[in-house]
Order: sequence, then C-alpha cells, then structure tokens
Amino acid sequence: MSLLVVGSVAIDSVETPLGRAADVVGGAATYFALAASFFAPVRMVAAIGDDFPEQALSDLRERGVDLSGVERRPGTTLRWSGRYHEDMNVRDTLALDLGVFAAFQPLLPAAYRDSRFVFLANIDPRLQQAVLEQLPAPGIVGCDTMNHWILESRADLERLLQRVGILVINDEEARLLSGERNVVRAARRILTLGPKTILIKRGEYGVIQFSANSVFAVPAFPLEEVFDPTGAGDSFAGGFMGYIARSGDLSEHNLRRAVVYGSAMGSFAVEKFSIQRLLEVGPAEVAARVRDFHRLVSFEQELEA
Ligand code: AMP
Repeated sequence: MSLLVVGSVAIDSVETPLGRAADVVGGAATYFALAASFFAPVRMVAAIGDDFPEQALSDLRERGVDLSGVERRPGTTLRWSGRYHEDMNVRDTLALDLGVFAAFQPLLPAAYRDSRFVFLANIDPRLQQAVLEQLPAPGIVGCDTMNHWILESRADLERLLQRVGILVINDEEARLLSGERNVVRAARRILTLGPKTILIKRGEYGVIQFSANSVFAVPAFPLEEVFDPTGAGDSFAGGFMGYIARSGDLSEHNLRRAVVYGSAMGSFAVEKFSIQRLLEVGPAEVAARVRDFHRLVSFEQELEA
C-alpha cells in the first residue's frame, strides 16, 4: 500500500566531530521517503526552490518515490545548518531559512487522495493538518514534530494529535509536550492526547515504543563510527511506517518488527553524510542488519528450577 509523506525537503550544511558537509541534500521527508521506499511505494508532498539539485529528484524517482506532489517554486529551498557536539546526541541549529516552505499551501494531486497510510513529518502543524484534511480516509496517521511547534503552536498541534495514531518524537520533545520529566510518565500522558502508539527516539540509546498495554525498547545499532546523525529519526520513521504500510498489520507483534526495521534504516542513515548511505544500501544489507539486530537483542531466560 502507498505511503504518503509531507515534510521538509532541504539543503543542509552539517558539522560533526568527524567532518563537515556543506549544501548537501537533506530534509525530513527526503530521509523518510528513501528509508520507506525499501518497503512500500512512497508519495511525497513538499516544496522545493530553483536551487534544489535535479540529481536528488532522480535518485528519489529511481526508488519509486512519486514526486507529483513536490512543487518547484521560484525561490530557495529550505536551508538548515547544524553543528553536533562531541556527544552527538546534542546538536545546535546554526541557521534555518524556510525558503519556499514559508508560503507553501499543499494541494494534493488527485491520485494521492486514496492514501491510507500517511506520515506528517516535522513541519508547521497547520501544514500537516491541511494535508490530512485533503485525505477522505486516512487509515493510519503517523506524525513527528519539534520543540518549536510545541512551544509556538501548541493549540494547532494538540488539535492535530487527536487525529494521529502513531506519534514519533524525541525524548526532549516528549518532556516538553507532556510537562513530565520521566519518559515513561511523559508517554503515558501523551497517550491521553490522541495517539495510540508513541515512539520515543533517544538518539544513540535507541527507541522506546509505548501503547496502552505494552512497552517495547530497541537500542540503536552499535556502530564504531557515526558520521552524521542528521535524519536518523526520519529514516527510523520511514522504515517503521514503510514496514507497516507493506503489511497493513497493526498487531503488537508487527509493530515491534516495524520498530526494528525502522532502527535498521536509522542506523544506515548515520554511517555517512546526508542521504549518501541510504542511496548505497540494498535490500540484502537491510535484511542482514535486521538479522544482526535480532542477535543483538536476543537472550535466553534462565529456566526456573
Ligand atoms: P532529524 O535529524 O531527524 O531531526 O532531521 C533533520 C532534517 O530535518 C534535516 O535534514 C533538516 O533539513 C530538517 N529540518 C531541520 N529543522 C527543520 C525545521 N524547523 N522544519 C523542517 N525541517 C527541518
């Protein structure tokens, strides 16, 4: 089943302790779409400026991503620059220019309107809502957000959350949204706002999934070198939602498998700058990493005497 994503498509400049990359392809929807394309056909909604490289569009198309909802407009593409600390869980945003996104009013192509799997990547909650309103029967709605919207557009965000089934946010955002310091309490509180499943991203510590009756946790894959954490969370979300869209199965067993597939995609994203590594890997490497994950988290319980 097709999976629709709305979110940023961007040009990033990134500095990490291992190097820097200037004016490279980024954006939450870009990472999401590439990761999800391993599992399901993806439809993308975004705006780009005249400066966005044609090569990146052909890379996306080659992976089956439908770009008919991506509008090229006069002006500049969203530009973000960030710097990671020695502890790469911490980063500073150095600059953000929304460019053509500032005035973007998404109008979905008619062919997108039957989408049943939707992901609202981090962008203004009013844009997320505008996309949702154009879908007559969105079955499974996933959503991400960030501090800025929690602080500046809480009412819009809370209205949106009532229609969201799966919320994917990081631990700091979960605290801010819930007013609870402890992530378990934060997740319980957020479950009362609408979402049935909360996925809390904790950088190199992995992901915890909370539903009304269950908790599941997966560590980040232990890599010797993390080059660039940018997009790890979006690639996680892409792998997770892609796996759900492929199977159409929201059972607890399948959600747990989806968390592992998402974590596998996130682990590839950080191995090189920008989207480079996601463009290199193939299905066999994804399958191998999922097997490695299985070995990583398996243990035999001691038998009771
Ligand atoms: P992540 O590392 O998962 O937070 O995603 C980083 C990506 O999000 C980068 O490629 C940026 O281009 C994009 N990004 C950063 N800030 C924003 C923002 N305020 N709105 C939309 N996209 C953003």
